[in-house]
This record gives sequence, structure tokens and C-alpha cells, in this order.
Amino acid sequence: ANAVEFHSVTRQFGDSTHPVTALADVSFAIPRGSVFGVLGESGAGKSTLLRMMNGLDHPTEGRVLVGGTDLATLTQKQLNRMRHKIGVVFQAFNLVGNLTVTQNVALPLKLQKLKDPQKVEDMINFVGLGHRAGHYPAQLSGGEKQRVAIARALVTSPLLLLCDEPTSALDTHTTGEILDLLRSTRDRFGTTIVLVTHELDAVKAICDQAAIFETGHLKDIVSVNASHAES
Ligand code: ADP
Ligand code: ADP
Repeated sequence: ANAVEFHSVTRQFGDSTHPVTALADVSFAIPRGSVFGVLGESGAGKSTLLRMMNGLDHPTEGRVLVGGTDLATLTQKQLNRMRHKIGVVFQAFNLVGNLTVTQNVALPLKLQKLKDPQKVEDMINFVGLGHRAGHYPAQLSGGEKQRVAIARALVTSPLLLLCDEPTSALDTHTTGEILDLLRSTRDRFGTTIVLVTHELDAVKAICDQAAIFETGHLKDIVSVNASHAES
């Protein structure tokens, strides 16, 4: 089964005199439990693609299926419920500055009026920040902040983890550590991971497959790292 399917998806912005085609007739599938790269330069359509997987934007033409469900058929309430099963990690970490690591990680549960201190602690330990649980974001390095963001994204046991340029603000060494953590996430929890990046090295490091985009067009889908994926 596929975690995500795009069927002939086109997304246009602007009006008929000045149309901007962000995505042009894009079709692909992301197998459940895989790490899938979305590679392209600025303006390739990557952000638009990611927003569609999260139901924040919709195709002008075509269909987007997440977990087998066409997002266009969902009510706002159903869409919100589905979004609870999608984790998102951003380039700029997006942590809440006046909350501790523990409070940041607990936030998605709190927003759903849930409480699970054990799960929060487990996720903080999983990302290797047990010794930083009481710290505030300003006291953490960039890599540590991104670990917190990953723990926060995982605390609701998402089926799908969307990562938008998660290593673009990090140095090479830290980038490697964060990519390893994403790979471990998939291996440990079976989470389907979408890694949006302009960095070919990131794709080579952890992806099973990658879709290569140029100005809204899907140029190629390549298998990467296939041997690695089994180990
Ligand atoms: P990327 O994330 O790869 O940089 P985007 O998905 O942000 O690419 O953008 C693809 C194209 O669509 C760009 O030309 C961008 O300017 C355009 N675009 C994206 N969102 C909008 C919008 N809300 N309104 C108008 N144009 C948009
Ligand atoms: P980011 O690219 O940092 O993830 P956004 O999701 O806000 O940030 O925007 C994605 C892209 O869409 C931006 O690169 C921007 O060029 C484009 N975009 C967003 N809104 C508009 C708009 N109203 N007009 C043109 N382009 C837009």
C-alpha cells in the first residue's frame, strides 16, 4: 500500500493572463515505510507539493491520496483529524521559545487535549536529548533544536513525517546526524518519511527513492540506496 499518491496533479497560481504553474501533471507514489526524497531547486514546486500532502493546499487538477484517501473528499473536520497523524519538521525548527524541551514535545498532544508524559519522555530519549529535557530552545544548538522538533513531530505517532529542508540551517556534521536520526525513525517506527531538500547529498544518504523536480515538472524518479534500505 502507498502512503501517498499523486495522480496527474497540476497546481496553478495567478490568473489566466499571468498563470504560474507550480506543479504540472505530476504523478508518483510513496510506498508505506519508505524514505522518499523530493529534490529540486528553489521554485521547483517542493513547498506546494508538501502543502498538498498535508491538505493545506489543493490541486487545480488531479488527485492527492494520503493513506488511500482522496483529500478533496474530506470535510474540514476529517482533514484536521488526518493532520494529527502527519508530523512536520521545518528548516527553522519552529520551537516555542518560552517552553522547555519537554513542553515543546508535549505540545501536539496538548493541542488535542491529550496527555502522555511517558510518550513525551520516550521521544525525547529517542532523539538523544534526555539530558536536555528541562532546557529552553535558546540553550540548545541547531542540531539539538532539530532533534526536539523531530521528537515533537513523532509524539503523536504519525504515519507520515514531512520534512521541509530539515538540514538546510545545519553544518555538514550535524546534517549527517539529523539524517541518521530520520533514518532511525523509519527503521524504529516504520514511519513514512518525505524529505524535501535541494541537497543531493541528503537524498543519497537516507532516501530509498527520490523525485527530481524542475520548475513544476517531475523529471525523474530514482531509486537510491536500495541495498542500504534492507540493512
Ligand atoms: P519550492 O518550494 O521548490 O521553492 P514552491 O512550491 O514554493 O517551490 O513554488 C513553485 C512555484 O509556484 C514558484 O514559481 C512560486 O513562486 C509559485 N507559487 C507558490 N505558491 C504560490 C502562491 N501562493 N501564489 C503564487 N505563486 C505561488
Ligand atoms: P517556505 O518556502 O519558506 O517554506 P512558504 O510556504 O510561505 O515558505 O512559501 C513557499 C513558496 O511559495 C515561497 O518560496 C514563495 O515564493 C511562494 N509563495 C507563497 N506565497 C506566494 C504568493 N502570494 N505569491 C507568490 N509566491 C508565493
